[in-house]
Amino acid sequence: MSLHVHKYGGTSVGTAEKIQNVAKKLVKERQASGHDLVVVVSAMSGETNRMTELANQMQQLPSKKQMDVLLSTGEQVTIALLCMALEELGMQAVSYTGWQVKILTDDSHGKARIEEIQTDKIRADLEANKIVVVAGFQGVTSDGAITTLGRGGSDTTAVALAAALKADECRIYTDVDGVYTTDPRVEPKAKRLNKITFEEMLEMASLGSKILQIRSVEFAGKYNVPLRVLSTFEDGEGTLITYEDEEMEKALISGIAFNRDEAKVTLSGVPDMPGVASAILKPISDANIEIDMIVQNIAEDQTTDFTFTVHRNDYEKTMQILQDICIELGASKVDGDNKIVKVSIVGVGMRSHAGIASQMFSALADEGINIRMISTSEIKISVVVDEKYLELAVRTLHESFGLSDA
Ligand code: ADP
Ligand code: ASP
Ligand code: MG
Repeated sequence: MSLHVHKYGGTSVGTAEKIQNVAKKLVKERQASGHDLVVVVSAMSGETNRMTELANQMQQLPSKKQMDVLLSTGEQVTIALLCMALEELGMQAVSYTGWQVKILTDDSHGKARIEEIQTDKIRADLEANKIVVVAGFQGVTSDGAITTLGRGGSDTTAVALAAALKADECRIYTDVDGVYTTDPRVEPKAKRLNKITFEEMLEMASLGSKILQIRSVEFAGKYNVPLRVLSTFEDGEGTLITYEDEEMEKALISGIAFNRDEAKVTLSGVPDMPGVASAILKPISDANIEIDMIVQNIAEDQTTDFTFTVHRNDYEKTMQILQDICIELGASKVDGDNKIVKVSIVGVGMRSHAGIASQMFSALADEGINIRMISTSEIKISVVVDEKYLELAVRTLHESFGLSDA
C-alpha cells in the first residue's frame, strides 16, 4: 500500500470550515487513490503569534522551555478538531501530539532538532485503516520535556515523518499553489515553478523564503523524500522539489529570495592583526547570536573596518556587546543599521554562466538602489540594501532576469 504524508499549514486550517474542508479533501483522496494517509497540521493561523503575545505580557523574556509548553498547544487543538471532522465524515482517525508519537528531539528549546521518530504506533494505526493525524512543530526530549522546532516547523515534522515511514510522497499543502520565482505577495508577476532542485530550495529557504522551513528541505534532500508543495484550495500539480535534471539547467536564475529580518553592524578602526576577527565574533556567538554575512575591508593605516549582519531581534544586544569589544580592541567606533534587508538571486544555472553578478548590480544601479554589502556562493548572490528598496529591488531583478515572462 502506498503512503502519502500531507501537511496543512495554518491558513489551511484557520477556521472550523477550513478544517472541515481539509477533512473532505482527505476523504476524497483516500477514496480516489486508496493511499494510506498520515496528516500533519499546524496551529490555526494567528494562534502561534497570539500565544507569543500573551507570553510577552507575563514576562519580558519568558523561558524557552515554557514557551514550548505554551506554543505546542496550538497544534494540539488542530489535531483534535481534524479528527472530529474526519469522524463526522465516517472515517476512522487517530490524533497524536509529538510526545505521544514519540518524536524525539534534542533539548534546544524553540529550535529543537528531530533525532528519532518512533513509528510503531502509527504503522499499527495505518494497518487498521485509520487516518493518522499528527501535531506539527513539536517533539519531546529523552527527559520528557516538550520542545518545538522553530517557526514553520510543521513542514519539518511532515518531511521527517515521511522519511521515517518511507512514504511515497510528502505533500505540503498551503495557501499558494507551489513554489514561485519569488514571493507572489511582493511580486504579483511571480511564476509558479513546476520543479526546483533541493539545492536551490535550500538556498531559497535559508535566504528568507518562508514557503518551506529550511530543515524540512535538508531532511528531504538527505533522506531522498519526494517533496511537493501544493495549494489546499485549488487543484494542481504544485511544485516538485527534486534533483537536478537537464531541463532545469536552462534556467539561469530560478528564484529571488529576501529576508526582512536583518540588521547590520560595523566596527571601525580595528587594529589589523591576527586574532581580531575571532576577538570580535566569539563574544557574539557566545551570546547565542547567529552571524550571517561578514565583510572585512582591506587595511589602511594598519586599521580596518569589520561589518557583519545579525537577526534584527539580536540587534540591540549585538550593539551592546560591540561597544565593549570596541574599548577592548581600541577600535574607533561602532555603527549599526537595523533598517536593511537582504535580497538574493538563486539558480544552479549560475555555475555555468559568467556575468550574472554584474547584471544584478547594474539592474539595481539603474533604479538608484545602493548596495551596502555583497556575498556570493556557487549558486546564489546576495546583496544588502536599505529596507525601503526591498519591493523595488525584488521586482527589478525579477524583470531583469526574465522571470516575469518565463
Ligand atoms: P503555511 O501556513 O501553509 O505554512 P506559510 O505562510 O508558511 O504557509 O508559507 C506560504 C507563504 O510563503 C505564501 O503565502 C507566500 O506569501 C510565501 N512565500 C515566500 N516565498 C515564496 C515563494 N518563492 N513561492 C511561494 N510562496 C512564497
Ligand atoms: N505553528 C507554527 C508556526 O506558526 C509552526 C508551523 O505553522 O509550521 O510557526
Ligand atoms: Mg509555513
